[in-house]
Amino acid sequence: MSRETLNPSSIILPGSLLGVMGGGQLGRMFALEAIRQGYMVAVFDPDPESPAGLIAHQHLCADFSDNAALDEFGEACAAVTTEFENVPADSLRRLATLTRVAPGADALEVAQDRRVEKTFFSKAGIDTVRWKAIESDADIEAAVAEVGESSIIKTATLGYDGKGQRVCNGVAEVREAFAELGAVACVLEQRISLAAEISVVAARNDNGEIACYPPGENVHRNGILHTTVVPAQLTTARLEQAQNCAVLLLEALNYVGVLALEFFIATDGQLLANEMAPRPHNSGHFTQDACISSQFDQQVRALCNMPLGDPRVQGAAAMLNLLGDAWAEGDPDWPAVLEQPECTLHLYGKAEARAGRKMGHINLIGPDSITVREGLAEVAKVMKIAP
Ligand code: ADP
Ligand code: MG
Repeated sequence: MSRETLNPSSIILPGSLLGVMGGGQLGRMFALEAIRQGYMVAVFDPDPESPAGLIAHQHLCADFSDNAALDEFGEACAAVTTEFENVPADSLRRLATLTRVAPGADALEVAQDRRVEKTFFSKAGIDTVRWKAIESDADIEAAVAEVGESSIIKTATLGYDGKGQRVCNGVAEVREAFAELGAVACVLEQRISLAAEISVVAARNDNGEIACYPPGENVHRNGILHTTVVPAQLTTARLEQAQNCAVLLLEALNYVGVLALEFFIATDGQLLANEMAPRPHNSGHFTQDACISSQFDQQVRALCNMPLGDPRVQGAAAMLNLLGDAWAEGDPDWPAVLEQPECTLHLYGKAEARAGRKMGHINLIGPDSITVREGLAEVAKVMKIAP
């Protein structure tokens, strides 16, 4: 779409105050990017030590459902985005009566409940694993009959980084896991044998312009993202198919902002959507150093209804997540990391390095995926992280 079609009144100019719901590392990287582009940033997060709150111009320290605080925030900010999918949809709706909010409450609501999300994918023409909702014990037998003996039960809401899920075999184990998860609403998924996992990060603005990054190939460890490599080692047709699914989803949601769509590649070659995140994503961090416009740059642009940036990657890129475990014996050997010219260090300003806590990441750039995979192994060794 050409620049002339932008509605000038909807453009939010540098100098304006941008708000972000959530003060985690994603909010921090959004804030850094917005500040680079000359905006002011306000963070809404109940944690006084939140990584984004520490660096923003303003930090409103309040509960996400505090109406008075929401009104204050909505009145102060020229536009509000989100870095955390569990912001109550009603809070975003309230903000939207006072200011521009992107993405909107409807898109967040889809991502907040795995039942709604999978139903939405299917309606948009995007395949998923076989699944069935479990809302009470009475649903379990039929769910196992539909999904198969080998399954994963996941809480419908509030799960992340592998939390709120259990691998099961057969009805008895599903019953046990359902009780253990608190008998809250769940989905039971067919457990598939994975050839690979990939994700697509893409942005869309009010004009329907879409910028889609090349899919990243992800390795998870204990349910937490460990590494991402671009380009993914899949056929061009598969990669295009994944990008097309992301475009379908953005359009079906009439989405404004940055979104990530995670996929499984089954050993039989099928591409199956797993889940979406209505925000920049850990697997899109490579874009900070591999692309002209990072996922956070696109988040600022889409929020301000600016033209989107170039999502292409020259060569290859990789990302290594740094969890608190890497601090077990004190601070990592940063000079040894920074000695590697292809690496950049991103730390989130978290004081306490607990095991499993996301503390930062290292991006690596190279000419091809073999070189960056070798680089990953090197830098993991320096960080004393098993490759
Ligand atoms: P989270 O919200 O915690 O990221 P996911 O649904 O993405 O939850 O699951 C985390 C990881 O667990 C996935 O990236 C994948 O490695 C594995 N996994 C989840 N669901 C399945 C499944 N149905 N079959 C096989 N592996 C799965
Ligand atoms: Mg996931």
